[in-house]
Amino acid sequence: MSFPIPTLSREQGELRLEDVALNDIAARFGTPTFVYSARAMREAYAAYAEALSGVPSQVCYAVKANSNLAVLGLFARLGAGFDIVSGGELARVLAAGGQADRVVFSGVGKSAAEIEQALSAGIQCFNIESRAELARIAAIASRLGRTAPVAFRVNPAVDPKTHPYISTGLRSNKFGVDFDEAFELYREAARQPALRVSGIACHIGSQLLDPAPVAEAAEKVLGLVDRLSDEGIALDHIDLGGGLGIRYDDESPPSVADYLAPLLARYGTRRETLCFEPGRSLVGNAGLLLTKVELLKHGVEKNFAVVDAAMNDLARPALYDAYHAAVPVSTRAEATTRRYDIVGPICESGDFLARERDLALADGDLIALLSAGAYGMTMSSNYNTRPRAAEVLVDGSRTFVARDRETVASLLRHEHALPSDF
Ligand SMILES: *Cc1c(COP(=O)(O)O)cnc(C)c1O
Repeated sequence: MSFPIPTLSREQGELRLEDVALNDIAARFGTPTFVYSARAMREAYAAYAEALSGVPSQVCYAVKANSNLAVLGLFARLGAGFDIVSGGELARVLAAGGQADRVVFSGVGKSAAEIEQALSAGIQCFNIESRAELARIAAIASRLGRTAPVAFRVNPAVDPKTHPYISTGLRSNKFGVDFDEAFELYREAARQPALRVSGIACHIGSQLLDPAPVAEAAEKVLGLVDRLSDEGIALDHIDLGGGLGIRYDDESPPSVADYLAPLLARYGTRRETLCFEPGRSLVGNAGLLLTKVELLKHGVEKNFAVVDAAMNDLARPALYDAYHAAVPVSTRAEATTRRYDIVGPICESGDFLARERDLALADGDLIALLSAGAYGMTMSSNYNTRPRAAEVLVDGSRTFVARDRETVASLLRHEHALPSDF
């Protein structure tokens, strides 16, 4: 089967991302290292741009999937907007060269300071997730003498049929305002002089492999938009969130065009700008985590390949029991194939990156954990005082260090040893 990363290939036994050998990346930058393909990101973005070329549209990259400044800069150059969930992410977008007026701000707990920051920067829209947040944004905008552009994130109560931790549009989820309450909230917002009602938003979950739930959510949202319009509340954009899934193992996600087809057929020639907030589908299969086998442990019941990456670098397997393909960087004819669990050095039984993989390995071998471009680095931590990995962007035969590897000194910098007089 082909690799899920479209720009990954094997030539003369060696894995290459675009035109760069992963062996060379490990030799130059060390391991563990996240390696991203610029071409794969551009191609993923182009798939959205092409599918949406017939309608007024905007793609707002979901920053939380991979918030490296170089990645954000790449999407900004392609004309993307951004979906953010914190003031920190807004600062990243601006530092990367993104435009504030193409930023939508989601999240259930925006602080007063974050709201002020976003108002001062002049973002495109706040996606409001509760009645309390409506009051908070109106009060802050009014105090600052500004008008806040707002949308409500509605919860359409459809089941996205994905992992429960990444379902967000069910009644029981913390996200969005209840669909039946939304109409009244829009009337309230329209009466507030410090607010400008600008759009509507909805995001039902992540790693979606079926176009039906999104089309169903869109149907509900469009019905509400029409009712609001009858009431004299006209919206300028309709944001249907992110969520399109990718292939990690043997999934067969629809193409962007097939995913959006039912929805676009229903959308017709509406005048509102149709927005999406894809994260995973833009970057997930543009990245991998390059790691080195520290040692092999052959046991009675199990064989372990202990590698220099761990759950602090890539949390998804420990968190969601997620699958990442584990591919040796060099093929090795002489080693025996054994069934391995690929584990990190962290003191947790949950510290595994892949389980029960048949691989021919030797100490010091390099392994690429594929599909690690989304929710990899952004979910990483310093657990066990492990400096975070480096990030390298590949474009053709060029490489760019997008993040230096952390050092223990950089980790200790924010801490203070107990002074003798305390
Ligand atoms: C996480 C998130 C996204 C991106 O989801 P993906 O599954 O990565 O496409 C988009 N919008 C909102 C509001 C989110 O929370």
